[in-house]
Amino acid sequence: MKIVPIGAAHEVTGSSLLVEAPGGPFLIDCGLFQGNPTEEFKNRQFPFTPASIKAVFLTHAHLDHCGRIPMLTGQGFRGPIYCTGATRDLAQFILLDSAKVQLEDSLHQNRKKNRAGEEVMLPLYSEEDVLYAMRQFHPLSYDTPLALPDHIEMVMHQSGHILGSAFLELRAEGKRVLFSGDLGSPGRNVVPDPADPPEADLVVCESTYGNRQHKTLDQSIEELREAIQWVYHADGNVVIPAFALERSQDLLYYLRQLRQGKQLPANPVYLDSPLSINLTEVYRRHAEDLDQETQALLERGEDPFSFPGCHSTPTAEQSKAINEKNGVIIIAGSGMCQGGRVQHHLKHNLWRPECAVIFVGYQAAMTLGRAIVDGASKVHIFGETIAVKARIFTINGFSAHADRPTLLAWLSKTGKARLLINHGEAEVGAQLVGELRSTGRQAELAQPGVVYQP
Ligand SMILES: [Zn+2]
Ligand SMILES: [Zn+2]
Repeated sequence: MKIVPIGAAHEVTGSSLLVEAPGGPFLIDCGLFQGNPTEEFKNRQFPFTPASIKAVFLTHAHLDHCGRIPMLTGQGFRGPIYCTGATRDLAQFILLDSAKVQLEDSLHQNRKKNRAGEEVMLPLYSEEDVLYAMRQFHPLSYDTPLALPDHIEMVMHQSGHILGSAFLELRAEGKRVLFSGDLGSPGRNVVPDPADPPEADLVVCESTYGNRQHKTLDQSIEELREAIQWVYHADGNVVIPAFALERSQDLLYYLRQLRQGKQLPANPVYLDSPLSINLTEVYRRHAEDLDQETQALLERGEDPFSFPGCHSTPTAEQSKAINEKNGVIIIAGSGMCQGGRVQHHLKHNLWRPECAVIFVGYQAAMTLGRAIVDGASKVHIFGETIAVKARIFTINGFSAHADRPTLLAWLSKTGKARLLINHGEAEVGAQLVGELRSTGRQAELAQPGVVYQP
């Protein structure tokens, strides 16, 4: 078996590994490179022939893991895409949304490019391409080995990152390799804990937060409660920019919990994101993949993601009507404020000292969210200068990624397996590798294009 990192080596996005094995080649994930416009070209071509790939194994529905699948099928890949049923259903919404955003971006960019006499840019794929790709998805259950030709077996294990997420176990030629995908932390409420890893010869493991320790979940929920209490006291609105997948559902769950415990007053909450609304519906539909207590709530006919006064606002008119309200919580995308409805809400609330913006997720460099978190006194939204007078809160314990202690604890269960560290910034990955080596483990940092063997 040979393993070649295609993306997410020395970086966080573009997750993809090429696996050469009997009956292959296979691809583990086929993610989009995100965040750096100058590296856009990396998304346009594959360093292999898509038609030669026999199957894709998909760990989860985040765009940095599934975002190039429609290109793969568009360029001749005809094999099955194996993932959990929840991942398939989430991926459909995520990819359709990505196609829509790409179209809007290219129309916007191309107006400028046309005026500048530059070559126009086409979206990577259309909504039709996504629907075409969806026909190749094959849902699998957790912990149930899939037998492939040439005595290859693949098993998906719960990775506790987002709904439907899995780490993969691939057995071929007498060797066993684990691919962590993205790993979550134990003790969260919406998704189950990550499963313990089985013994293996090689483990390819993510390192997103390999040098950080998150605040505890309880501390973070308390910070959320305090921040919301402050705004209610000041008689303003709360804007929470949130990723549509997992973070929005987590927030609804915790707000419901705080409400039920009478720890927050009953002010209205708006989930103002068509994508979040659709994804939350998928969470409800896949109760079997939720944490046991959350599953039990659904079985009793209760909704873990809603409560009295919680409103979903799919239409633009409903969204605009929120501008007239006061004393409300607005959860909207995008999570880093780079687009989407949250920009409208920031425009209407950021200049008001009685309002608050609560950041509950990572804000990448060069984004509007990062500028606000870093203390900008003014920002530009829709060509207008907006003063930042609202109170800004940053809560960092809601991460869906395992932190350093959790990664080390999970990896410590992999026995004598060799470790290949990917999906993290180069220094972060190198720190984790150093720490693993100091405990006697054989660990190295994945390099793009290099061949690794178990
Ligand atoms: Zn992920
Ligand atoms: Zn990822």
